[in-house]
Amino acid sequence: MELLINKISDSGLDASSVSGEEAIIFWNHVRQHIASTSQERAQTYIISAEYRSELKQFQACIDELKLALGQLQLPGDAETILSVKNSLSEHLVDIGDYSSALSEYSSSSAIAVEHGFIDAYALSILGMGNLCDAYGDHNRALRYYQKIDGIDHAISSRSLRLRYKLYMLSCYIELGRIAAANDLIRECEELSILVSNKILAGQIHLYQAKLNRQQGNSHDALLSISNVQYSSGNINSSWLSSMVRLELAYCLGDVNKPQLAKLVLHHVSKRIKLDSAPILSKRLFDSLSDICEIQGDYKQALHYQKKGYRIESDLMKNIPITELGASQLRRLSRYELQLKLILSEIENKELKETTENQKNTVKKLQQDVFTDPLTALHNRRWLDVKLKDMLLHETPFALMVIDIDHFKSINDELSHLVGDKAIVNVSHELSAYFRFRGASCVRFGGEEFLVILEKASLEQAEMHAENYRERIFQFGWQDILGERGLTVSVGITLHREGENTQRTFYRADKALYRAKANGRNQVCCE
Ligand code: GH3
Ligand code: MG
Ligand code: MG
Repeated sequence: MELLINKISDSGLDASSVSGEEAIIFWNHVRQHIASTSQERAQTYIISAEYRSELKQFQACIDELKLALGQLQLPGDAETILSVKNSLSEHLVDIGDYSSALSEYSSSSAIAVEHGFIDAYALSILGMGNLCDAYGDHNRALRYYQKIDGIDHAISSRSLRLRYKLYMLSCYIELGRIAAANDLIRECEELSILVSNKILAGQIHLYQAKLNRQQGNSHDALLSISNVQYSSGNINSSWLSSMVRLELAYCLGDVNKPQLAKLVLHHVSKRIKLDSAPILSKRLFDSLSDICEIQGDYKQALHYQKKGYRIESDLMKNIPITELGASQLRRLSRYELQLKLILSEIENKELKETTENQKNTVKKLQQDVFTDPLTALHNRRWLDVKLKDMLLHETPFALMVIDIDHFKSINDELSHLVGDKAIVNVSHELSAYFRFRGASCVRFGGEEFLVILEKASLEQAEMHAENYRERIFQFGWQDILGERGLTVSVGITLHREGENTQRTFYRADKALYRAKANGRNQVCCE
């Protein structure tokens, strides 16, 4: 996609400057004159279809999505194919072509399993379940949703997990399975904290309201409804806002305010397009019928009931109910073995990654334990281990003690922060100079450093110490310290065979003391 965008801008066009009908013409032009691969042509159809959907040209949108699919090929384009098919089936449901939608879901599920896309698989099953839900067969819908529940832990999208759980929840509520619904709603609430999707959060409150009302608690239900408004702000989803109003009407009916309930329902009826949202319309007519019944207006109640029933029978005619039946569910069951294989592969990969991460963490911890955080030099803990190791292997070494001259005054005159910066620079220079000379550098204390030069003679050590001292003397300190410079004094000694390291230190320290006493910025040996 990025490549295509580059090609477009290379030809002097700007994709972000067009919208609406103009965008459709634009992407048509791109397809014919700029796109050079079939994937790129598919992209142009996908984008154009989105604009068509915005313009409510649903059939044209569907046609373009199909044309996009025509440009794509398995296995390379599996991911794009699945996402196009998902969008295609949603649009097919919207225009009421349930049979075509089902066949898209069905082929998506096969492709997703074949190529190991768990989320896409779950999405296609969700679509099938929703079709059952739409014509009122909540039990069968649940059987689809439960298939997703079986692979719950392998779904990577949290919002997808929350969505199918909410569909399950809705079925439990419709079927009056209160205990199961109460359990699931808690799970949804926990998951929703991580998802932070306002519409899904609103849905949870809506279902909480339904549950409260079912348990005879209309006042709590009203409270939950007000929570939807609170958590979702201005609800963008017309489905959610209509569903909330329908629920509100039921609650008002329950608290003996049928007049108000009717008002709310009339408001809903104005908002939804009866022909394009059959499922919502059916729910609306059912509610209107129930409210009229409460009021004793049986004639009107019957009138609405009939309208609702007409929509329901239309849905039952249009939704391929038999194809959603036992044979489809059996077909999906046949995928279960393959799914198990995919899941175990995912788990193995995750396990491998976890082990790898743990190894890295241990390595990092070990590094942290032996490293001075300010300078990234070795610390005293490391020094102890190193000295023991050298004694054990009888490795001869020269020991160098380096101390910054008059450091206290840097702290006092220029602040502790500047002091730290100076320490860091002295350390960087130390590792930069000694890195390739087989030496180990240690931050021994505040502004005091040790260098261990293995198998070095006193002359070699002295030469290196002198080079380093000069390097620090010449260093461009003015950026950090302004007018004043910075120098170091160095004391050196050789470790003597069989001697304990305290004695070696003592001699090096004595040499350092002499360097300081002689006027600093110099190297002394002992
Ligand atoms: P000399 O030339 O005799 O070494 O003089 P000096 O001022 O360097 O003497 P001394 O060793 O007494 O002073 C070291 C100072 O370093 C004292 C302490 O406040 C400071 N210091 C120790 N650790 C740190 C640190 O991590 N950061 C900073 N900014 N200062 C530190
Ligand atoms: Mg000092
Ligand atoms: Mg000191």
